[in-house]
Parts: sequence; C-alpha cells; structure tokens
Amino acid sequence: MLPDIDIKGRVALVTGASRGIGRAVAERLAAHGVDLLINAREESRVILGELADSLAGRYGVRCLAYGADVADSKAVSDMHRYLFKEFGRLDILINNAGILGDGLLGMISDDSIQRTLAVNVAGAINNLQMASRLMQRSGGGAVVSISSIIGLRGNPGQVVYGASKAAIVGMTLSAAKELGSRNIRVNAIAPGYIATDMIKHLDAETHAARLASIPAGRVGSAEEVADVALFLVSDLARYVTGQVIGVDGGMVI
Ligand code: NDP
Repeated sequence: MLPDIDIKGRVALVTGASRGIGRAVAERLAAHGVDLLINAREESRVILGELADSLAGRYGVRCLAYGADVADSKAVSDMHRYLFKEFGRLDILINNAGILGDGLLGMISDDSIQRTLAVNVAGAINNLQMASRLMQRSGGGAVVSISSIIGLRGNPGQVVYGASKAAIVGMTLSAAKELGSRNIRVNAIAPGYIATDMIKHLDAETHAARLASIPAGRVGSAEEVADVALFLVSDLARYVTGQVIGVDGGMVI
C-alpha cells in the first residue's frame, strides 16, 4: 500500500498566514489534523485571530494566532518561545511571510532595500534559526520556505525582490546540508504567478504579458502552492531535501 499523508498531531508554524499562500497552507495543514501557530504582523492580529478560531472550529485542531514582524529577531524569538510553551514541540515551519520591493534601478530607495531584505531574508533566517533549535529537541522536522521564480530567473523592476528570493534558495541549500544529519529536511517552493493580494496592483497590460508567459495558460492559485507545501512537509517527501520546487504552470522550464 502507498503511504498516505499522515501528519495528524504534528505542530506547525506558518508565517504570513493572514491571507494568500500562507493562509491556504494553514488551511491545508489544519485539514490534515496539524496543530498550528499562525503568524502575521500585529496590524493583522484581528483577522489572524478569526482565522485561528475558524480553523480550530472546523478541523478540531489547536490553532493559535501570534502577531509579530518577522524582521524583528527579538519578536521572532519571543514567538518561538510562546510556541514551545503552548505546544511543547515544533515539527513544521512554513517560512512564507514576504513583501514586494518593486523599483527600477536608479529609483530604489534605501528604505525599500532595507525593508525588503529585512522581511524576506532576515525574517526567513530568523524563523529558520529558532525553528531548527526546537525541531532538534523534537527529533526532526520539515521546513518549507517560499522563494519565487523571480529569484531564479529575474524580472525587470524586481532587483531587490529577486535578490531577496534568490537568498531563500541559498539559505535552503545551506540549511539542508547543515541540518540533514539532525533529521530536519529543508526545501523551498518557487511559485510563479499566483492569484493573491500581492499581484493585485499589476495593470492589465502587465497581467496579460504574465499570462502569455505561462504554458498552462492561467494564473495559479494559493491552494495549488499549498498542495506542494503539504507534500513537502509530509512523509511522502521523507527523502527530499535541499530542493526548490517550481509551482508555476511551466513559466520556468
Ligand atoms: P500576500 O501579500 O497575499 O500575503 C503576504 C503575507 O505575508 C501576509 O499574511 C502578510 O501579513 C505577511 N507579512 C508581510 N510582511 C510581514 C512581516 N514583516 N511579518 C509577518 N508577516 C508579514 O502575498 P502572497 O500570499 O502572494 O505571498 C506569500 C509568499 O509567496 C511571499 O513570500 C511572496 O514573496 C511569495 N510569492 C508570491 C507569488 C505570487 O504570485 N503571489 C509568486 C512568488 C512568490 P500582514 O497581514 O501582516 O500584512
């Protein structure tokens, strides 16, 4: 018989779970019986709390909300301390929180560079670092970080964002080598063009150009990214580590 996705009773932290891809991953994990700490910035605490109550009510899991800016290493450290106090272990980290930092060369502000790298890169490393400590205490775990095809192939106007998402690849490869012997698998997903708030600002012309570059002929959904995250954290992927999986309808081939 083929192994099933059996992750019931495991404990996960999902960053950037108030909407979009993070929310879809939280939904998938809860549906499979995973207890969760869901995170977004303090500003989204109310939405996050409602989502936590909804997931707990619908799936019978334990789900708590925690407002913290992932760029703030002290706040991240406090969040992991809270997680350990409440759940006593950590098995799964979904390193998803991220922001866009668009701007053409010559027009990029120092603030935009600092903030994009702080959230997308330092935020992911802060969480990975704390999570790896907790996972070692629990005997192992699985990390999935959300990169982007922009980090692999680039895009005009996205020098900072692309650099931040390429950093997620480098972080994933190094961490996979460092943590493999501790039974911690570290992988990344590189989504293509996914229908979330993050792409809402694009004008019709840019949207049409993006669509034309997708062999599958359509925008992806947050749930389609979440399904791959679910596979990667499950035992179906028990021999998979240090990989960057594209979820892009064929944009990068
Ligand atoms: P959304 O803008 O819909 O969601 C972003 C999430 O990140 C929100 O929950 C937001 O929470 C959270 N977040 C942002 N900044 C912080 C912070 N400083 N601390 C904690 N949480 C924060 O975007 P997506 O769902 O589309 O993006 C999720 C990930 O996927 C990102 O890393 C993005 O770069 C990546 N990605 C997205 C693609 C797409 O086409 N949509 C393509 C490739 C990659 P809050 O409510 O507090 O703002």
